[in-house]
Amino acid sequence: MLNIAVIGAGVNGVASAIKILEHYLKEGKTAIRVTIISEEFTPKTTGDGSAGLWGPYLLGGTPQSKVYKWSKSMHQFLEQIWLSEDAGEAGVCLIPCIRLNTSTVEPVEDFWRDIVYGAVNLSEDQLAAFNKGRSVKFTSGLSFVTYTSEPVKLLPYLMKRFTRKGGLIVRKKVIDLDTFISESEYDVIINCSGLGSRQLLGDNEMYPVRGQVSRVKANWIFSAVLDESDDGNYIIPNTESVVLGGTHQEGDYNEQVCPRDKKTIVDGCRRYIPGLEHTESLFDWVGLRPGRGQLRLEAERRGRKLVVHNYGHGGSGVTLCWGCADDVLDLILAAKVSSKL
Ligand SMILES: Cc1cc2nc3c(=O)[nH]c(=O)nc-3n(C[C@H](O)[C@H](O)[C@H](O)COP(=O)(O)OP(=O)(O)OC[C@H]3O[C@@H](n4cnc5c(N)ncnc54)[C@H](O)[C@@H]3O)c2cc1C
Repeated sequence: MLNIAVIGAGVNGVASAIKILEHYLKEGKTAIRVTIISEEFTPKTTGDGSAGLWGPYLLGGTPQSKVYKWSKSMHQFLEQIWLSEDAGEAGVCLIPCIRLNTSTVEPVEDFWRDIVYGAVNLSEDQLAAFNKGRSVKFTSGLSFVTYTSEPVKLLPYLMKRFTRKGGLIVRKKVIDLDTFISESEYDVIINCSGLGSRQLLGDNEMYPVRGQVSRVKANWIFSAVLDESDDGNYIIPNTESVVLGGTHQEGDYNEQVCPRDKKTIVDGCRRYIPGLEHTESLFDWVGLRPGRGQLRLEAERRGRKLVVHNYGHGGSGVTLCWGCADDVLDLILAAKVSSKL
C-alpha cells in the first residue's frame, strides 16, 4: 500500500490529492491511500472568498514559462468541466473579460494570450470610452473570454469527487513538518499549506498579501473588468454575486475588514460601472494570499520518504492549481515510489 498525505485543503491541496488518486486508480492500481490533512477546509480557505478568475497575478519571480504551462493546464481542465454536466455544480462560468493598463512603458501583460479565447487588443476608440472623465488614462487594454471557478463551489465539488473515489480527510493542524515526516506512517507527504508553510517548516520567504473584496448583488453584470494599475480596481461576476476588488497589501496580516479599504473599492468600481451605486451590499471579505519570491514546487528525499512542496501561489492559486498538481504527480512518478503498489 502506497500511503500519501496531502497537508492543506485549499485549492492546491485538493487539486494535488485528486490528481494523484485519479491517476493511480486509472492505472488500475488500487493499493493507494491518499489523505488530506488540514486545519481548515472549504469555506474557510484562502480561495473561498475569491472570484476564482483565471489569470496569472502576484507571482513574484516565478518563471513565466512555468506559469504559462501551469495556467494552461488549468484552463484546459476548466474547459473540460465547462463542457461536462458538472459545470454548474463546480461553479465554472465562461465570461468576457477586459484588462486595462495605465502604464506608458508596458502594455497589459499577455504572455498567456493564446490560452484564453479570442484575445484582441482594445482599439483607441474602445480605450477612449473607458477613459471618459478619467485623469489618469488607460494606455492599453485586452479583451478576451475565459473562466471563473469560484472556489466556494469548486472546492466542495472537488472534495466530493475526491471522497467518492476513496480519498480520506483528517481535520488536524500539523505543528512541525520534520516531526510529522519522521513519526507518521506516510510514504509521501505533499505540503500544500500555503502561508502556513511559514510556521510549519519555517519558510521565512513566505509573506501575506492581504486582499479585501466586497460582494454585491448585481446579477445584471456579465463581464469582468480589471484595472491593472497598482491602485486599480476590478469587477468580477460570479454565479450569485459580483466581486468588487481589491487590495494587495504585502506583509499585512490584518484579517479584519477595513472600512477605508471598502470605500476605496466601492468608489473605485463605481467609476467603471456607475450602476453599482444602487446595488445591495452582501458582505466584505479579507484573505491572505500566500506570497513568496517564487512559487515553491519541488521534491526532497527524507530517508525513505518523499516530500513534495507545492506552495506560494500568491494571487493565482486557483489559476495554477491543476497545472501545479500535474507537476506534483510527475515528481512522485519520477521518484519511483510506486514499487509499493
Ligand atoms: C481577495 C483575493 C482574491 C483572489 N482572487 C483570485 C482569483 O481571482 N484567481 C486566482 O487564481 N487566485 C485568486 N486569489 C489567490 C488564491 O485565492 C490563492 O492563491 C489560493 O487560494 C492559495 O491556495 P492554497 O491551496 O495554496 O493555500 P490556502 O488556500 O491558503 O490553503 C492552505 C491550506 O493549508 C492548511 N494549513 C496551513 N497550515 C497548516 C498546518 N500547519 N497544518 C494543517 N493544515 C494547514 C490551511 O488550513 C488550508 O486548508 C485571490 C486571493 C485573495 C485573497
